Amino acid sequence: MLKFFNSLTRKKEDFVSFEKDTVRMYSCGPTVYYYPHIGNMRAYLFMDNIRRVLKYNGYKIDGVMNITDVGHLTSDADEGDDKMLVASARENKSPWEIAKFYTDVFMSDVKRLNIDLPEHICPATSVIDEIIAFVQGLLDRGYAYTTSRGVYFDIAKFPGYGQLGNDVNSKMAGARIEVDSEKRHPADFALWIKAPQNHIMKWDSPWGIGYPGWHIECSAIGKKYLQDHIDIHTGGVDHKTIHHENEIAQADCLEGHKVVKFWMHVEFLQVDGGKMSKSLNNFYTLHDLEERGFDGEDFRYFYFTAHYRKQQNFTFDSLLGARNSLKRLKNLVLEHKNGTNVLPKEKIEAYQNEFLDAVNDDLNMPVALAVVQKLLKEEKSKDVFDLVMKFNQVLGLNFESELEIPKDVLDLAQNRWMAKLEKNWAEADRIREDILKLGYVVKDSKDNYQIEKL
Ligand code: AMP
Ligand code: ZN
Repeated sequence: MLKFFNSLTRKKEDFVSFEKDTVRMYSCGPTVYYYPHIGNMRAYLFMDNIRRVLKYNGYKIDGVMNITDVGHLTSDADEGDDKMLVASARENKSPWEIAKFYTDVFMSDVKRLNIDLPEHICPATSVIDEIIAFVQGLLDRGYAYTTSRGVYFDIAKFPGYGQLGNDVNSKMAGARIEVDSEKRHPADFALWIKAPQNHIMKWDSPWGIGYPGWHIECSAIGKKYLQDHIDIHTGGVDHKTIHHENEIAQADCLEGHKVVKFWMHVEFLQVDGGKMSKSLNNFYTLHDLEERGFDGEDFRYFYFTAHYRKQQNFTFDSLLGARNSLKRLKNLVLEHKNGTNVLPKEKIEAYQNEFLDAVNDDLNMPVALAVVQKLLKEEKSKDVFDLVMKFNQVLGLNFESELEIPKDVLDLAQNRWMAKLEKNWAEADRIREDILKLGYVVKDSKDNYQIEKL
């Protein structure tokens, strides 16, 4: 039985979808005012992990992800600068150009990580009409009110507020003096914000020219593609108590019932013991890793080495460890390809069950990897190879690239790369000759190398 930890109930629960065979899944997408970092990528590898495990269990998926291409304010409290405007000024580009550029960077990164993308990817700016209709619906039902700054959600009208742990009443007691005296409760949040003159991204609405508050796009996009029942909603833990709490309030009040069944949150990727984040400017991008000779797959494997509900500390040493384990694993898989031993049927089934139990136990990837490693210790057998290929539907690693190339050539190429990194050019040239003699040529790009048959 497939089990996921639900942040709503704080328990592992049996997963049952609303429709029999298809899972409706929503993932909070990226803000596109700067380069995504590998902490963000942990969130999308987590999404990929869920999608692949669902498919492995025979489900189809109707998945949606937003792209936050509209500027929102710096803080969850609807205060501060508009990050898109800050980026526009920094790069001397229009907010539209900023959004296009960083959306492209994001798409290229997720491709290099072999992330299984949702069926629908929807920029917030493409659903302004839907957002306005959503806000109007909340006003009509009495869950929102207008002020001179825009439209606000009235949290006092929703008794379910705080399900994910946003304890607004205890916060109220020590709250600082409210900046916006028109708000009925300090935790009321903006649905629509009237735009100041200098604001670039703005749209006409029944409440004047403005732009959406930053929680509403996810609810409006979710409703557009998945209607009023969503099986799984994903995001990072930083989104849990404000963004997702507010999404629940908006959607449940509009529909009059609970919209999302499973809320799933991935813990932070840390760096030097702290959160890696765009605003703290302490982050690495996938490109930074590639510049040091790693590739997307190494980071993908690194993701599997920690459970998603635990913080994971990033260091280049641990990434190197992941890279080496992955290399070893690939070489072993290769050795099994032409193996002659036969794995008994019962053993095959036992391995299959062990692997399934691990991934179905709230995505326990470290245990799933241990199963694969145990399997690879069997006598060389094509059955082992076939089984790993089946498990690879979940792992999403690229065995094919290695499989066509003999192990001694792969090893030589790796040694040559290390020699190059150590600036040992003579050694690197000597190994290149050896590789040529075996009928292969190594081609270097800036951050990596490729091996081709002559
Ligand atoms: P953002 O573009 O900042 O909205 O982030 C995109 C996704 O990455 C969200 O789901 C965040 O919760 C998630 N995220 C941000 N920082 C981290 C981190 N250090 N580790 C894991 N997930 C993160
Ligand atoms: Zn969201």
